[in-house]
This record gives sequence, C-alpha cells and structure tokens, in this order.
Amino acid sequence: MKQQICILGSTGSIGTQALDVIRQHSDLYEVYCLTANNRVELLAAQAHEFKPAAVVIANETHYGRLKELLADQSDIKVYAGAAALEQIVEAGPVDMVLAAMVGYAGLAPTICAIKARKKICLANKETLVVAGELITRLAMEHHAPILPVDSEHSAIFQCLVGEDMNEVEKLLLTCSGGPFRTFTADRLAAVTVADALQHPTWDMGAKITIDSASLMNKGFEVMEARWLFGVPADKIQVLVHPQSIVHSAVQFADGGVKAQLGVPDMRLPIQYAFSFPQRLHLDGRRLDLFRQPLEFFEPDLDKFKCLALAYEALDKGGNMPCVLNAANEVVNAAFRQSRCSFPGMAHIIEQTMQRATFEAAPDYDTYVRTDAEARRIASELL
Ligand code: NAD
Ligand code: MG
Repeated sequence: MKQQICILGSTGSIGTQALDVIRQHSDLYEVYCLTANNRVELLAAQAHEFKPAAVVIANETHYGRLKELLADQSDIKVYAGAAALEQIVEAGPVDMVLAAMVGYAGLAPTICAIKARKKICLANKETLVVAGELITRLAMEHHAPILPVDSEHSAIFQCLVGEDMNEVEKLLLTCSGGPFRTFTADRLAAVTVADALQHPTWDMGAKITIDSASLMNKGFEVMEARWLFGVPADKIQVLVHPQSIVHSAVQFADGGVKAQLGVPDMRLPIQYAFSFPQRLHLDGRRLDLFRQPLEFFEPDLDKFKCLALAYEALDKGGNMPCVLNAANEVVNAAFRQSRCSFPGMAHIIEQTMQRATFEAAPDYDTYVRTDAEARRIASELL
C-alpha cells in the first residue's frame, strides 16, 4: 500500500522539493491532496502530473480559475478557503500531512491533522514557535508523531536514533550566519531586500530567507528544538557554521558528539521524515570532505538582535513567542516591501513585545487573540 500524502503548501520551496521526492519514489508514496495560497497555475500543473484526489486553493478568489484549469480532471475534487484546508487533512485515506505552509496560517490545519491522528512531517516551524506547548501536548494525546523537516532538527533527530534522551548533554544547532554574517552594524543598517534575499547556502522561500538574514530563523529553531526534543534553551547552543555542511549535532553524557553532515539539499530531511525509520536512495550531489573546510563561530547577539529577542521570548514563555512571531511576520513582509529597514525589524518586534498583553498560560483562543493584537501593534509601529 502506498502512503497517501497531503501537502499543505505544495507550490512553495519545500512543497516542490517534496514532490520531487515523491516523483523519485512513486512506488512508495502517492499524493492525496495538494494545496496552495495563490499560485493557481502551478497548483493546476502539479495536479495534472500527480492526479491527487483533491486540491485546495486557500485564497478563494482563485477558485474559479482553478476549476477552469482542472476542467479536464473530473476525478479531482477542487476546494477553496482556509476551512477546506482544515477539513482535507482529516480525510480518511491520508496517512501523513506535510505541513509546508509558511507562517501562522499553518497552525490551524496542523492542529486538525494532529487531532485526526495523522503523521505530521513538520516544516512549518512557526506552528511550534507560536504554540509549542499546545502542539506537543496534542500530539501526545492523539498519538500523532511529529517528524522534523527543518534540516537542523532532522539532523538532531537522526543523531538521536538509538539514544536515550537522559544522556543528552546539549544540542548543537548550526546556523549559516546568513548573507550578513561579517557585516558591521553600520553596513547592516543599509542592506536592501535584494541583498537579504541572496542566501549564501540555501535556496528557500522569501519569508524564511529574510528570517535567515536577521537570524530570527535561528531563534525560531531554538524554540522548535526546545519543543521537538524537550530540551531547555540553556542546553541548546547555536554555532555559526558558514558552510552549512554539518546540519546540527548532539553532545552526549560521555562527551561524545554525533553530527549529521551532507550537502545543503532539503530533499534529504523531507524524504527522511517520509520514510523514517528507513533510509531511501536520493539522487543528487554527494559530500566531498577533501574539498570542504568546516568552520564554527559564536553568534553575535548584539548585532543580530532578533536572535536575542527570540531567546527573551522563549525565556518569558506564555504567549510571548506568539507575539514575537506575529510581529516578525508583519515586519518581515514590510521589509520585503521596503517599508521597514533591516535593523528596524528588531526594533519594532521589541516594542511589540513590550506593549502586547502578556498571558502566562495561553490556550488556542489566546493564541488567536494574541496574534491579532501583536499584528495590530506592529503595524501601527511601522
Ligand atoms: P514558500 O513561501 O516557498 O512556500 C509557502 C507555501 O505555503 C506555498 O505553497 C504557499 O502557497 C503556501 N501558503 C502561504 N500562505 C498560505 C496561506 N495563508 N494559506 C495556505 N497556504 C499558504 O515557503 P517555504 O520556503 O517552502 O517554507 C515553508 C515552511 O517551511 C516555512 O514555515 C519555513 O520556515 C519552513 N522551512 C523551509 C525551509 C526551506 O528550505 N524552504 C527549510 C526549513 C523550514
Ligand atoms: Mg533550518
């Protein structure tokens, strides 16, 4: 029996690479559902190739166009809207859900998939940043496994196979440092969107590329690791590693360190989440350690304020990471539209964290309220 996969965000960087994995292993995996927000032409082309049972376009204004493009595919059901995303993940035949949407919008459908006891392959890190406690609790209650897709977390997960969590001393979370790793504060103040979109080692969607330049992405990943592996922040060390070859590592009680290495290619962690505990063949480049220097540096929290703010939000707990995420989504979009400077992003996030209503023990409704309030505050500050 082939595993039936529902892809939330099939037109994105992770989504299209996931489809490449499925293409290479069509004997094992089948697409049950494809979803996107706006890129209706690409979604229709994917549907023509993979013949899913259903497609969902989140932005309802594209529904008519999608119906038109799939008029020749009478077996494919076509839906639109955010509520349809929440329903499709629960469909009986779905074995696993690849959460590869970007941002807070991924939270609600991921919760539905967990409650429907689906295996979750999680790329959408914002889900764990916003509601890590809730998500991990629900996943336990509903026996829904969460497999990491983020390369660092997949690396840590791979290092932990066969190990006892009680014997973990610390997690070593690597970070490329982004395109501005060596910049002075003065140079950082003048960077443009085009500069920030040039990531030195990874080709990703625009939002995460900006988060990687500001190191907010690494702050998010500290939180993601905290929830995925149940390890406190003081046992998660960030190492700037410009080559992006060591994808992360784990140090154990006997001082031994296990790391996972490879060329930067997201298809490996995507495929590993699909196939765990099996390893499958994957086409592509192989690591050549003869031509590969490996360097490690400490991150500069004074220069990269977003990483410091993420540590602060994690330390404060409650709904503060949700505030941080919402403010970041607002300033990230504003920076991409040249409505906010690069250092201005951290400044506005910090002020939003000071002004938003703090809630120590949030539930789902608190997160919805917090997200809306923090977005409003950050937008006013712009
Ligand atoms: P992307 O922008 O390339 O793709 C995002 C996808 O989500 C698209 O298919 C889009 O249609 C869909 N989408 C966006 N907003 C939506 C909404 N409101 N409702 C429904 N669908 C919506 O992003 P990406 O780089 O593929 O990243 C996706 C997620 O994976 C992010 O959370 C990111 O942090 C995480 N991630 C990405 C990478 C990477 O290499 N790209 C690595 C690690 C983690
Ligand atoms: Mg990552």
